[in-house]
Amino acid sequence: MEENKNNFTELSELGEFLLINKLTKNNKIKNNSTKKAIGDDGAVIEYEDNYQTVITNDVLVEGIHFDFSYCPLKYVGYKSVVVNLSDIYAMNAKPEQILVSFAVSNRFSVEALEELYQGIYMACDEYGVDLIGGDTTSSKIGMFLSITAIGKVKKDNQVYRNTAKETDLICVSGDLGAAYLGLQVLEREMKINKDTNVEPEWNDKEYLIQRQLKPEARRDIIELLEKNYIVPTSMIDISDGLSSEILHLCTQSKTGALIYEERLPIAEITRKTAMEMELVPSTAAMNGGEDYELLFTVKLSDYEKLKELEQISVIGHITHQSEGINIIATDGTQVPITAQGWNALL
Ligand SMILES: [Mg+2]
Repeated sequence: MEENKNNFTELSELGEFLLINKLTKNNKIKNNSTKKAIGDDGAVIEYEDNYQTVITNDVLVEGIHFDFSYCPLKYVGYKSVVVNLSDIYAMNAKPEQILVSFAVSNRFSVEALEELYQGIYMACDEYGVDLIGGDTTSSKIGMFLSITAIGKVKKDNQVYRNTAKETDLICVSGDLGAAYLGLQVLEREMKINKDTNVEPEWNDKEYLIQRQLKPEARRDIIELLEKNYIVPTSMIDISDGLSSEILHLCTQSKTGALIYEERLPIAEITRKTAMEMELVPSTAAMNGGEDYELLFTVKLSDYEKLKELEQISVIGHITHQSEGINIIATDGTQVPITAQGWNALL
């Protein structure tokens, strides 16, 4: 294969079929449910009795969802898969297959796409998921990625977002706001780098950067709940920020909610960095987004089991719809939660 002067192979030199072969030549199948993967007109999936299928899809667009000036292609690949898997876990299901489609301009080389696929395969290995198909095409500008994830769940264990009940406890996994602060740090350092050519220094901010560039889906939380015989009454993953997700969950469940600001799980480094940047830590936690933690409700009677689990915080409870969706601030005032601008009221 002839290479250009930068040692990058142009896409046009390879053509679609050779490109697909190159990108998928080491594809390994890990799940029994994958009966037929890449190579035929369609893929085939088959489950044991009593299981059902959960399907989700995300489209990611260069310049909107990722920015190559600070996000290496490998991480774009990894994150694109993980955010889809997070949606499958949020249905209390186990993801087993993905389909990946993309459109790219000729600005991307074959090597660049191989790097993207390295990240995609990294996520497949980490989460035990099979790549079973997709499509590739060209675009005039930029990159578009479409990822479909398919999961399986026992019929009785399916969890929806519209089934929270009054008095249920509201729980969240891990900690919140770190991915948003990671983005702020990345943008700040990239600007300094552009203006002065000074190499970025992450120092103690690594955790925040990692949460932004290489988030993880909470498979461990789903497994932890199962091990402790806790089936959430409702669940959603936190992609757009806690405020927005709690509104979805309560609106669809036709309930209200009461959240306590002091109970929001915020990592020390998130708190510290927010202060440095003159941001309110709990605002980053409520509205930041991209944490890919799980927000779920459990029956009050599960509290004894739940309180032992370190990775899970109880942040409030479900109320009657007529009481609205509110947060009690640390100073004791009660404020309605809105999708954005909750901080504007404080
Ligand atoms: Mg979601």
